[in-house]
Amino acid sequence: THFGFETVPENEKTEKVREVFENVAHSYDVMNDVMSVGIHRIWKDMFIHNLGPTKNTKLLDVAGGTGDIAFRFLNYVKNSNLEEGSHVTVCDINQAMLDVGKARCEKLKYDSEHISWQQGNAEELPFEDNKFNAYTIAFGVRNVTHIDKVLKEAYRVLKPGGRFMCLEFSQLEYAPAQWVYDQYSFQVIPVMGQILTGKWQPYQYLVESIRQFPKKEHFKNMIEEAGFRQVTYENLSLGIVAIHSGFKL
Ligand code: SAM
Repeated sequence: THFGFETVPENEKTEKVREVFENVAHSYDVMNDVMSVGIHRIWKDMFIHNLGPTKNTKLLDVAGGTGDIAFRFLNYVKNSNLEEGSHVTVCDINQAMLDVGKARCEKLKYDSEHISWQQGNAEELPFEDNKFNAYTIAFGVRNVTHIDKVLKEAYRVLKPGGRFMCLEFSQLEYAPAQWVYDQYSFQVIPVMGQILTGKWQPYQYLVESIRQFPKKEHFKNMIEEAGFRQVTYENLSLGIVAIHSGFKL
């Protein structure tokens, strides 16, 4: 019953991941709510709040999927009267995810002037240097093959002064809580995936990919190695997820 991701050769990982998300695109939003009992919404709200966009913020949301981060950004700038000159570009390797996002965007009636969609690989972004004020990646880093390349690309496309922010599953600080959480992940999530979407494997992959993600301190070092400064992180929900932040100075 293993998806076998641990043994997938490097050059095939990107393709496998693309397949996974193509398969789940249409059930992605519902599954997010079910598996996190809706809490992913709060994490994402906190993430955007933490970013604190201002007027004229040009945001690039990588691995942006169906637009959750982008829509929160748009709500934030609108509600704070900071809409002027603000823009979010959603970039994802998977056109199927972007298509779901675009449909949601129309349904939710967001002004197309403030948002655009671009298919592309986080490891090789289709954007020029020094273009954005902010770069976000939520639940995306663990899906890529080369984290170092992703960070290098983030650094390249940010303007000097620009901010990098990552929201990602992490490790709990308290071992017994980690144990409970592991039971939930390994026993419950794939079964829920099977029941709700008829597919087990994408959810098995999800759980495995969370496991393989670097520890917080290590990831912080990787961000610094890419050139970012003032790199910090904070835990949300006991460390189930963490927000890493850094600046291109
Ligand atoms: N950010 C969204 C959210 O928080 O709901 C989506 C997160 S989803 C778990 C991960 C996304 O990463 C998928 O949409 C997938 O297509 C995308 N992805 C995977 N590998 C990628 C890559 N190399 N470059 C860009 N996007 C990638």
